[in-house]
Amino acid sequence: MTPRPNAAAPTEIQAGTKTGTDAGITIGVLALQGAYEAHAKALASLGVTTRLIRTPAELVEPSPLDGLIIPGGESTTMLKFLERNQFLDVLSTFVLQTPTFGTCAGAILLAKDVQSPAQTSLAAMDMTVERNAYGRQIDSAILTAPTELPGGPLEMVFIRAPRITRTGPEVEVLASRDGFPVLVREGHLLAATFHPELSGDTRVHQFFLDVVRKRAAVQV
Ligand code: GLN
Repeated sequence: MTPRPNAAAPTEIQAGTKTGTDAGITIGVLALQGAYEAHAKALASLGVTTRLIRTPAELVEPSPLDGLIIPGGESTTMLKFLERNQFLDVLSTFVLQTPTFGTCAGAILLAKDVQSPAQTSLAAMDMTVERNAYGRQIDSAILTAPTELPGGPLEMVFIRAPRITRTGPEVEVLASRDGFPVLVREGHLLAATFHPELSGDTRVHQFFLDVVRKRAAVQV
């Protein structure tokens, strides 16, 4: 059976409590499959206007996004949707210019090299990821580990997580698990192999918003 994205109309959730710094910032959440609603909720709790993205046009209409989150889920299924309407090509260009945060399957889509098995990607971040490297679904884990983010150790929810096995020289490692990076940044791109949207701690989303705000300020 061919998978179908949720056919609901495009959704833009206006922030109820916009702060001065977030005025005008709109973050998209790719909503083809996976854990997109939890990301939208985390962003809404931070007072950010959020738009669910299901088509290439929604990246720019009614206004260009300031940033995008590619959620966790199943990267192969997301790729099936992205192969329609040239969405993969449009998104490959988009992520070159616009701050994008990939979590788990989203991190797999951002990686230049994907292994076990090899699959196509947006090839935006200079890293190699090995899919399902920590074992089967039953081996998913919740850990607390140190991070470079301010505020001490961070809860990390891993669900059939990939492992980042190589990072290029421009990739900054912000947290690791068993010696392998789990939170990385390369300029305007951020990737986590865990699910920050499933923890109450919003520091990773806040960090991404800082990247977005800095980029928006530079471009004004
Ligand atoms: N195992 C999934 C994949 O390969 C990722 C799992 C997740 O996003 N939680 O796409």
